Amino acid sequence: MGARTLAARFRCESIMRSPPQNPHDLSRHDLQDILSTIHAEVRERFDTQTGKVADYIPALASVPRDTFGMAVVTLDGDVYTVGEAHAPFSIQSISKVHTLTLALDKAGDDLWKRVGREPSGDPFNSLIQLEHESGIPRNPFINAGAIVVADVILSHYDDPEAAFLEFMRERAGNPDIGRDDEVWESERKSGYRNVALANFIRSFGNIENDVQAVLDFYYFQCALKMNCIDLARSLQFLADRGRCPSSGEQVTSIERARRTNAVMMTCGTYDAAGEFAFHVGLPAKSGVGGGIVAVVPHVLNLCVWSPALDDKGNSQLGAYALHRFTRMTGLSVF
Ligand code: GLN
Repeated sequence: MGARTLAARFRCESIMRSPPQNPHDLSRHDLQDILSTIHAEVRERFDTQTGKVADYIPALASVPRDTFGMAVVTLDGDVYTVGEAHAPFSIQSISKVHTLTLALDKAGDDLWKRVGREPSGDPFNSLIQLEHESGIPRNPFINAGAIVVADVILSHYDDPEAAFLEFMRERAGNPDIGRDDEVWESERKSGYRNVALANFIRSFGNIENDVQAVLDFYYFQCALKMNCIDLARSLQFLADRGRCPSSGEQVTSIERARRTNAVMMTCGTYDAAGEFAFHVGLPAKSGVGGGIVAVVPHVLNLCVWSPALDDKGNSQLGAYALHRFTRMTGLSVF
């Protein structure tokens, strides 16, 4: 994309209909330079970061901590990368955006009778609100909400795993995407909290299918392995009004794309969503594998990966990298 085009497109088409405070003109060269600068800054922070890998899932405990990858994919299809952007990692909760898209497609807005869309302010695997709110999870991006979304998918597909895998491969344009068996087994054996959440929700009548089948699908979606480029591409439709910019396919409606971005902004990084909006200012979704995907509406998608997590379960250096990217480019929805 040309030197002024990125910023110009942002200015013309921003959902805020006003320019960012400091809209830098970005060329290819600038974008690659910005990523390289971020990479160098992140590497300097490896020794002092306090984050820890998600060892509550035993298979993730052995992932090297000091790793970083980042990919930017523009709506024109240009790709910029640094570090381990080609290395597949466990996508974990990032998959909750994709399953929400599939579930809304099948269940329509009735889905919102079974899952809310308010930030929880509690950890992603908390059970506390469910009791007070009669088994209706606060939003689709905490574990409880994603388990209800998984149940909706089970009710609508004969082979939900095959349907989900096909969707992910198509969205990412990568037929090699698959499940990490070790991670899947590991979560199946150690997912005590998810078992508790699912049974608790079932007791309120907000799960229709066999609880173990719902959990198996939920572990499947979390256990897919994808790289930063795959993940950035897979959500391009959220930057382009529900449309896949490479195929032209309308993946979801304009309105649903806008609303999914809104839920990502308010709930995509759990009880740190306020901090994310403050420091990054983009719709984003994180996973405990250390990935975070973000959307710059009408301009580009990006994905960062660094496995060590902060105390809210978001990638510590990934969050830093997104903050630096938005500061250096001036890109933000605000
Ligand atoms: N599979 C993980 C879990 O259920 C997903 C959590 C996450 O990525 N935040 O705990």
